[in-house]
Amino acid sequence: MRARAGKWSFVSDQRVQQLQRQVRVKEERIIELETENAILHLKLAEYQEVIGKSSREATKYYFLYNEKQHLQRSIHSTLIQLYQVIQKLKQDIKELHSSSLILVRNYQGQYQDCLSGIVAAIQRTQLYNETLQAYQSRAVLLEQSLQEINEQYQIEKQKRKLLHNSLVELKGNIRVHCRIRPLLPFDNELDDPVLQNSSLCEKVIHAVDDETVLVKCNRPGHPLINKTYNFERVYGPAESQRIVFEEMRPLLISLLDGYNVCVMAYGQTGSGKSYTMLGPYSKDEPALPSECHDDLGIIPRAAEELFRLISENPSRSPRVEVSIVEVYNNEIFDLLAKDSSTLVSGVKRDVITSREGKKELLQLTSESVSSAGEFMNLVTGGLQLRAKHPTWVHADSSRSHLVITATLTAAASPGSAGASGVTGLARRETSCINRSLAALADVLGALAEHRGHVPYRNSKLTHFLQDSIGGDAKLLVILCVSPCQKSLAETLQCLGFGTRARRVQRGQAKRRGFPASGKPR
Ligand code: ADP
Ligand code: MG
Repeated sequence: MRARAGKWSFVSDQRVQQLQRQVRVKEERIIELETENAILHLKLAEYQEVIGKSSREATKYYFLYNEKQHLQRSIHSTLIQLYQVIQKLKQDIKELHSSSLILVRNYQGQYQDCLSGIVAAIQRTQLYNETLQAYQSRAVLLEQSLQEINEQYQIEKQKRKLLHNSLVELKGNIRVHCRIRPLLPFDNELDDPVLQNSSLCEKVIHAVDDETVLVKCNRPGHPLINKTYNFERVYGPAESQRIVFEEMRPLLISLLDGYNVCVMAYGQTGSGKSYTMLGPYSKDEPALPSECHDDLGIIPRAAEELFRLISENPSRSPRVEVSIVEVYNNEIFDLLAKDSSTLVSGVKRDVITSREGKKELLQLTSESVSSAGEFMNLVTGGLQLRAKHPTWVHADSSRSHLVITATLTAAASPGSAGASGVTGLARRETSCINRSLAALADVLGALAEHRGHVPYRNSKLTHFLQDSIGGDAKLLVILCVSPCQKSLAETLQCLGFGTRARRVQRGQAKRRGFPASGKPR
């Protein structure tokens, strides 16, 4: 067995070796193949990667492509929209163009219309201008002739005034003015309430012009009154204190020229006498004159003007003396007289007639003044005394008359020593029914009719004023009247008195030869 086994083992060894070789070859081949395989794997991986990359790229490109497609589509639709918009715009522009053409055509038409309107207006204006110029030159001509007529009128008016003045001078220098006061609240106060709203408060007295008063009244059951009165000057209710003063101002020059001058206010109670002569001084508690300068009456204004005139010509500076008397109940009271205790109080005086037949006032106090202020202080004192004096406190003011006299005496004229010069301002307060005024009316009546006997002595007032009324003084009577119907009777009486006064003819006013000696009075 062993031999056999030896051979067998030889064969098998060979075979094993062969097989081993084959195995090695195979193993080498396997390694080779494995290497190859690995290389292939690598390559595969490489390719796979490439493929992966490519597919990602492809996806990307696919998306991009899609996007591009989408973009292209949206660009396309935008383009279409744009195209449509452009078409629409083109259409609009076309329409705009045609409407602007219409507008331009319209505008041109209107412009032409306007232009022709303007041209027509210019032509019309030129025409108007020519007419206006024609009118203007006519107006200038008319104005010139009006001015000429006015100048002529002024000259004629002046002539008339001069003639009138000489007439008045010839008539003896009585001037009668009439002042109609405004309707005032108290005119409506009637005693009988039944009459409160009656026509009694109506205005029946009117100033027609500056020389004519119209009384017009138509009361049921009474005859119609429609009457005019003429005076040298008529002041309507709106005319100021200054205007009234301006009218009497020339009398002050006459006063300084040596004439006797008398200004008297005449009228019923409440008709405006105190207002006209004194203004605020007539009130119980007078306001300061500086507060109410426009209201100042004739006396304060005349005092101011008198001293102004005197200061203008210092060479003849006359002495100015003032006396103030009250005529009440046919008695004369000296308001500047001082009693034993030197307190000023009214002292009764009497008029006596001198041997030459001229009236004289005994012991009438006169105070020398050198300014308007001093003058008015005396007046204020006199007025206060008048208001406080026991005899007069309850006096009926309609029976009381106040006479303020300024006497001017030449300063250094030997011939005039002791002689009083010229009667100055006089003011009276009065009513239509009392004795003094009835006497005054009688005096004027006698003078008007040239009666041989003039009843001056029927009252103290006429006696006292004899020189001023019937003598050779320049007399200005200011009739004061209320405009309302309830005063009609008194107003008619007052206007009648004034009319009679105008008829008085006296000798021409005589100059006193001032500053030469005046005559004693
Ligand atoms: P008389 O002195 O005549 O009795 P007054 O002068 O006292 O009257 O006037 C009576 C009232 O009428 C006063 O209150 C006065 O101020 C007023 N009065 C008079 N005249 C005028 C006028 N022209 N303008 C304004 N008020 C006037
Ligand atoms: Mg009075």
